[in-house]
Amino acid sequence: MKEQLNEIIKHVYNKKSRNLFTFLTGAGISAESGIPTYRGVDGIWIKGTKFHKPEEFGTLKYFKENPEEVWQYSLFRKKMFEDAQPNESHREILEIENLMQDKFHLITQNIDNLHKRAGTKRIYEIHGNNREIKCSNGCKGIEKLSVEIKGKDIDEDLTEKDIELLKCKECNSWMRPNILWFDERYDEKTNKRFSALKIAKNSGVLFIVGTSGATNLPITIAETTLKYGGTIVDINTEDNLFTELIKHNKNKIIIRETSTQMLKTIREIMQNIIQE
Ligand SMILES: [Zn+2]
Repeated sequence: MKEQLNEIIKHVYNKKSRNLFTFLTGAGISAESGIPTYRGVDGIWIKGTKFHKPEEFGTLKYFKENPEEVWQYSLFRKKMFEDAQPNESHREILEIENLMQDKFHLITQNIDNLHKRAGTKRIYEIHGNNREIKCSNGCKGIEKLSVEIKGKDIDEDLTEKDIELLKCKECNSWMRPNILWFDERYDEKTNKRFSALKIAKNSGVLFIVGTSGATNLPITIAETTLKYGGTIVDINTEDNLFTELIKHNKNKIIIRETSTQMLKTIREIMQNIIQE
């Protein structure tokens, strides 16, 4: 497997076009930082006596009916993200970026900011991020979440000041987090849909790390890379929807190891190739 990786990385590194090394990461990469995977049992939000699955309350429809509750959840997550630290995998990816420079791109499904906090710059957050807000009524513009709004404990309510700061200045509707909810479609403004697909097209290798492909843009990204002759490297602890997509394709490497160990191996291979 290492030999195969070496061969493909070397081949792509020396190509004149379609020579990008792109990483697509998901919740699995942040698990070691103590952030529960969204779809796992830990992702369930308990409010009063009610248990909610993310698929239920992570929707625009639910937000419109229960904005304060969704904001409480969002600010609870904000605190969890801020208390977490980037881990070895985030740092290995930064090392790879430093080696590959403009040949490197990172597409992440995570909204937790840990890649950026590790130092990665060439990043596309396709599920948006928790640090920005926009009007739920469709007024234009994306703003930073006010620094006056702090992360919260799970049972903490919004303050009057929070509520005031979370209302649109144009139309007084609720502002909402600039993230993709389950009943929404990917676009360029929030999700960098077009940019991500352009990168996928020009990727010689797409490394998929810690994501099972449960949403449609990540799968389309992988399909696009394959369509234009790129290779997919599936680094996950178990088979997933990407594995389904690539299992009959020759341009693939399937790796069942922890992300930290594999990223380290990939970084060493790249270092050797650059030094040759
Ligand atoms: Zn508005």
